[in-house]
Amino acid sequence: MTRKKIVAGNWKMNLDYQSGIKLAKKVRAAASSASDKLVIMAPPAIHLKSVADLLSDSKYLYCAAQNCHSEDSGAYTGELSVPMLKSIKVDYVILGHSERRAYFAESSEMLKAKVDQVLAHGLKPIFCCGESLAIRQSGMQNDYVANQIAQSLFHLSAKEFGKVVIAYEPIWAIGTGETASPEQAQNMHASLRKLIASKYSKAVAENCSILYGGSVKPQNASALFSQPDVDGGLVGGASLKAEDFCKIADAM
Ligand code: PEP
Repeated sequence: MTRKKIVAGNWKMNLDYQSGIKLAKKVRAAASSASDKLVIMAPPAIHLKSVADLLSDSKYLYCAAQNCHSEDSGAYTGELSVPMLKSIKVDYVILGHSERRAYFAESSEMLKAKVDQVLAHGLKPIFCCGESLAIRQSGMQNDYVANQIAQSLFHLSAKEFGKVVIAYEPIWAIGTGETASPEQAQNMHASLRKLIASKYSKAVAENCSILYGGSVKPQNASALFSQPDVDGGLVGGASLKAEDFCKIADAM
């Protein structure tokens, strides 16, 4: 099994330029150098170039954008294109975060186009999926998340799919302080890996890093990451404090 252990910090729309750079420098100084795990920081657009520069000499620290457009360039005011991200050496792009799906009406079709665009330019998508509380209460969460993955990712070849990182983020656990139990996370991750194996192959499924996101903190990270199908975390709130974020990374 060669899949990477990954901890990614999604800063969302937080931190002014100076505070963001301070945070990135602290993480760079403190992050462990174990080469079998990756630490990714996803700052807002204004920090991207500086953070990418700061991390450029590291083999295990990477920079991610929180979104991108599906076209190379054009009249799309306020948007960032993948060639722009590539030109400043951003490595990953978070796609399909539930906040983008909910507040910016990003559909599975739109995300499919963005996934293609990211891969076409040699960057890697961190593809988010996850169910609402109502869906969890209905017991349909595994089917719902399987559909999200099938609709935006299953047109990819096995080689292309091999470049995608998946982040399972139950919406009811994002920013709420409520965390999926290690068993709930493991159950979903195992079901996604089975789905990927049936679409592609066991080898593709075994190589796919599936991260858990939703109120990951230093206190719960070890229990979540010790599950066999949980390959790390996508961290929101706790990624804004270098000490907490590094503790989470060290918990892997
Ligand atoms: C997220 O938004 O990706 C997230 C997991 O947030 P939090 O850790 O704050 O729940």
